[in-house]
Amino acid sequence: MGRKFFVGGNWKCNGTSEEVKKIVSTLNAAEVPSQDVVEVVVSPPFVFLPLVKSTLRSDFHVAAQNCWVKKGGAYTGEVSAEMLVNLDIPWVILGHSERRALLGESNEFVGDKVAYALAQGLKVIACIGETLEQREAGSTVDVVAAQTKAIAAKISDWTNVVLAYEPVWAIGTGRSPLLLRLRKKWLETNVSPQVAASTRIIYGGSVNGGNCKELAGQPDVDGFLVGGASLKPEFIDIIKSAE
Ligand code: PEP
Repeated sequence: MGRKFFVGGNWKCNGTSEEVKKIVSTLNAAEVPSQDVVEVVVSPPFVFLPLVKSTLRSDFHVAAQNCWVKKGGAYTGEVSAEMLVNLDIPWVILGHSERRALLGESNEFVGDKVAYALAQGLKVIACIGETLEQREAGSTVDVVAAQTKAIAAKISDWTNVVLAYEPVWAIGTGRSPLLLRLRKKWLETNVSPQVAASTRIIYGGSVNGGNCKELAGQPDVDGFLVGGASLKPEFIDIIKSAE
């Protein structure tokens, strides 16, 4: 089964409603490859999800940037997977390195979140990736394996999972390495050859209009998760790199 190219735009904690409207109108006016060629998912902050959902072209989809690990309730400040489903938000990003590092989300917590969100019917962009320190200590493979294992331990069906490999030291730095083959190999050995063959593994870290074409041409790159450049018109060029 072929893996459709995936381009996600993570807007992080950015934007005003005016800026969001501007980004949406740029996206809506863009000529891009069809949905058969590329799946485009943009992820605004929670508060802008309804605005983006109701104004964005229908061939692009939306993702939340996080959701709570279980059913909602007395968890001040959190947003539950059920709420996203209720608003018809199809995707959620989980385990982003900024949340792992700044908010202390552990591998196990991320694994639980992925399992819970999938069980509620959401599709998940699950992020993994090593820090520069871990890379320099030579523990990249172990770190990323542990992150992936914590997810694999909690789920059996990978159909609705896109795995985003984002080396932390490449995010927002202009540096972009590629180790996707290893990630695929890990799935092949530790989950199954079928899951390795069908699960999209996308790359994130300083992808932009200038480097996207070359990166997209690398073997085993099934798409991108884009931060900074997803707020700019060059996001259109990144979508076009699917062709
Ligand atoms: C990200 O934060 O998911 C990311 C990849 O950021 P950037 O593209 O800005 O490096």
